[in-house]
Amino acid sequence: MSEQPNKLFQAYADKENRVSRQALIDVFSESGIRSDDPRVVSLFKLLKKNQTLAISQGLEPDFITPSEFGTLQEISPTLFENVLSGQLAIPQFAEFSQAVAKIFEKVEANHEGHLANYIPQLERVSPDKFGLSICSIDGQRFDIGDSEDFFCVQSCSKPITYCLALEEQGEAVLHRYVGTEPSGKTFNELTLNAKGLPHNPMINAGAIMCGALIKPGAPPSDRFDYVMSKWKDCAGSMKIGFDNAVYLSERQTADRNFALGYFMREKKAFPKDANLQEVLEFYFQCCSIEVTTQAMSIIAATLANGGNCPLTGAQVFRPDHVKNCLSLMSSCGMYDFSGEFAFRVGIPAKSGVSGAIMLVVPNVLGMAVWSPRLDELGNSVRGVDVCLELVSRFKFHTFDSMLGLRDDRSDPRRNIYDSRLGGTIAFCCAASEGDVGEMRRLVARGLDPGACDYDRRTALHLAASEGKVASLRYLLELGVEVNPMDRWGNTPLDDAERQNHLDIISVLTEHGGKRHDERRSRL
Ligand code: GLU
Repeated sequence: MSEQPNKLFQAYADKENRVSRQALIDVFSESGIRSDDPRVVSLFKLLKKNQTLAISQGLEPDFITPSEFGTLQEISPTLFENVLSGQLAIPQFAEFSQAVAKIFEKVEANHEGHLANYIPQLERVSPDKFGLSICSIDGQRFDIGDSEDFFCVQSCSKPITYCLALEEQGEAVLHRYVGTEPSGKTFNELTLNAKGLPHNPMINAGAIMCGALIKPGAPPSDRFDYVMSKWKDCAGSMKIGFDNAVYLSERQTADRNFALGYFMREKKAFPKDANLQEVLEFYFQCCSIEVTTQAMSIIAATLANGGNCPLTGAQVFRPDHVKNCLSLMSSCGMYDFSGEFAFRVGIPAKSGVSGAIMLVVPNVLGMAVWSPRLDELGNSVRGVDVCLELVSRFKFHTFDSMLGLRDDRSDPRRNIYDSRLGGTIAFCCAASEGDVGEMRRLVARGLDPGACDYDRRTALHLAASEGKVASLRYLLELGVEVNPMDRWGNTPLDDAERQNHLDIISVLTEHGGKRHDERRSRL
C-alpha cells in the first residue's frame, strides 16, 4: 500500500522533494512561535541535531527529507500543522507585530506623568522604562522594549487573586463576601457597599477579601507557595519573582489597607477565623510579585484562552471563572478611568501603580505594557496610550463586531485573503439563491457588491445565470457595473441568454446590458 503524500511537506518542498531547514525555522518564527516555546523546544533541538549529524556524515545539512519532516511533525502535530498552514489566532503575525512596533515607537515619545511615590521602591524605578509583550491564544509571541525587566505587579495581581478564590470557593460562596459593582470611588477608598462588603474584587478591599478566601487556615508560607505556583502555571513556567523590599515597604506604609481591614472586620465581612494580620500580609505579598511583560502577556493570554495556558495546555482556571474575572476587569479594572476605558478601548484590562497594564482580548491575545509614569488616576500614561492606539488600528473593542460598522481598521484574527474572498463568495452565493436579505447584511458589513471571485465572477453574473431577478435588481440599484467580464469573457447578459432567463435579459438590457461580443467590439 502506498503511503499518503504529506500535503504539508509538499506545500513547502522544492523540485528535489526536500524542504529547506531554514525555511521551516522561518515559518515558525514569522508565525510568532519561539524556539523556547515548551511545545517546540524538542522540535528545534532535533532540527539542530540532525543538521550537525548530516554534516558529520557528509550529507546535505540544509535540507529536510520527507522522513525527517515526518519525525519533526510528530513532536507537536497540531501546532506543526497550524503553523505551516497559517491557521493560528493571528494569521499574519509578522504584519501585526510590525504594526504594534509602530504603536510602541509612537507612544515612546510620551514622557508625561509621574512615578508612584507612596513607597520609595516605586520611586526608584527608571521612569523611561517601557516594555510591551503580546501572546496570542495560540502562543504567538511578540516583545519590544524592556520586556525582560522585572517589575512588581501591584494591582495587576487582583484578577489572579480573584480567579484563585473563585476556583476554591465557587461563584456563589465567593460573592457572599465581595460584590460585583464598580465602587465609583478611588481604589483604596475607605468604603464598603450597602451590605458592608467590598464593592468588587478589583479594588483593595475586594482583593484583601479574596485573599482571605484562598486556602484559609493553611500556613502563610504554603499559601504564598501556592499562589506563586499558580502564577507560574499561568505564565507557562516563565520565571515569577518576588520583590521583598516592595513587600516590606507595602507592609510598613499600609495604614489605609489596615483601615480597610479593620472596617471590614467591624462589619463582620470576613470569613470566620480570618486572621487580619495574615490576610493583609498575604495581600501585600501578592502586590509584590514580580514579572516581566513577557510573562505577564502569557498570563493575560491564559485568561484570553479561557484559563488554559497557550504554551503548556495547563487548564489553570475554569472558563466560567475567567468570564467572571474579565467582566469585572471590564467594569472596574482601570481605577477611576474604568468607565471611560470600557467606552473608548472596550477591552478587559487591569492596571497597577507600578505602571503595568494587563490587557485581555478574549479568544485572541493577552498583552502586557509596563511604563512607570502614571497619570493622575494612577494608570500608566504610555500604557493607556498603547491601548487607545491599539483599538484605533485594530477591531479589538468588544463591540467592534457590531453589524453595519464600517471603517478601515483591520481585524488581525482574519486572514486578509480569506476574509476578502470569503465575504465575496458568501455574497455571490446569496445572490445566486436570491437571498436579498443576506446580501443586504453583507453590504452593511462593508462588502463591495461589485467584487469578484478568482474567476472574476461577480454576484451579478450569479444572479443572472440563476435567474434571480430580486438579486439582480438589488445589485443594479446599488449601482454595480452592468457588464463585468469573467475569466472567460462572459458578461451577466451572456449568462442570462445561455440559460434563457427572459426576465433577466430584459432587466439587464434596460440597464445597458451587453453581450461579450458587443462589449468586446466596443472596447
Ligand atoms: N499595593 C498597593 C496598595 O494596596 C496597590 C496599588 C495598586 O496597584 O493599585 O495600595
